[in-house]
Amino acid sequence: MTSEHRDPWLLTPGPLTTSYDVKAAMLRDWGSRDREFIDMNRRVRERLVALAGGQGTHVCVPVQGSGTFAIEATLGTLVPRQGKLLILINGAYGKRMAKICAYHGLPHAAIETPEDVPVDPVGLAEALQEGPDITHVAVVHCETTSGILNPVGEVAAVCARHGRSLIVDAMSAFGAIELDGRLTPFDALVASSNKCLEGVPGLGYAIVRESVLETCQGRSPSLTLDLYDQWRSMEANAQWRFTPPTHVIAAFHQALREHEAEGGVRGRGGRYRRNCEILIAGMRRLGFETLLPDDLQAPIIVTFRTPSDPRWNFDTFYDALRERGFVIYPGKLTVADSFRVGCIGHLGEQEMRDALVAIEATIAEMGITRCGPARVESDA
Ligand SMILES: *Cc1c(COP(=O)(O)O)cnc(C)c1O
Repeated sequence: MTSEHRDPWLLTPGPLTTSYDVKAAMLRDWGSRDREFIDMNRRVRERLVALAGGQGTHVCVPVQGSGTFAIEATLGTLVPRQGKLLILINGAYGKRMAKICAYHGLPHAAIETPEDVPVDPVGLAEALQEGPDITHVAVVHCETTSGILNPVGEVAAVCARHGRSLIVDAMSAFGAIELDGRLTPFDALVASSNKCLEGVPGLGYAIVRESVLETCQGRSPSLTLDLYDQWRSMEANAQWRFTPPTHVIAAFHQALREHEAEGGVRGRGGRYRRNCEILIAGMRRLGFETLLPDDLQAPIIVTFRTPSDPRWNFDTFYDALRERGFVIYPGKLTVADSFRVGCIGHLGEQEMRDALVAIEATIAEMGITRCGPARVESDA
């Protein structure tokens, strides 16, 4: 998408390809009390709240670090020790939330579905019915492990009906797949700078219902990850508590402008959907098979089943594609051998088509003729 591009295209779940202007926005040094920096910080926070449909109800609390830092901060600040978090798990990111709870000694339970099956709102309703001790529910919008889209709208409706607090890990969907707090009520949505909003990595944030956050003083067991304290200090003096990632925020400020210029969530989501369609159609033409049927596939990252051809070797395939300028990602599934190709970041139709040309050349070079997965007897 940019003629200045010399790095490989990152067809991964992150870090992702960013635009030239996003990178160029970092060529300055700001003091933390710099008026210009304070204004950028404020505009970034306001814009994120607006993107989540949270104006007047929610506030944005940023935190230094990658997305997981913001997830950990949110769980630690919102879920009380006398509470209980029910996690809907269908991949590694749901499991990671359970791991965070275990570290923090937070009471939690999980409803687990296979990685190629969406989380189940009906099962959730039953669990809430039978579990009055459950105070909070957590769900992942797009489970990046497989690329599956979870029914967050239905999950939110169930939580609202049963009066439980909902926390959404929207990391790999926010900014490209609609999630509006006025239609899909949530108490916290967590995302980061470097996924669909195409900033550089280094910043996570939660968009939290203000009336909920107000009740969370003194709850976090961590100083650096205390979202309540981070929020209160930022409101009080417009300052971060600890050294702010100034360059990351400047880049994010530019990235949000580009997002808006592209037509916001609709425009960004449209480009990713085209990327995804081109990728899947092209890969199927070569004989590859996707893990997910099209109706469960989010336009974020696509899982392909490993070819049955004995000449297949992921590392060889990866290295040869890297040589040709494209970085893909290994699979993270337990249900099947796989690899993943992302369709997010600052790339479009041309890059997806070029990636397909590179993939075709690579499999020819490797002598692979069968790109489909091995068949079990019953469906051969
Ligand atoms: C990327 C991602 C995260 C955060 O991962 P980090 O490596 O900490 O940035 C969390 N949840 C989902 C669904 C993700 O895709």
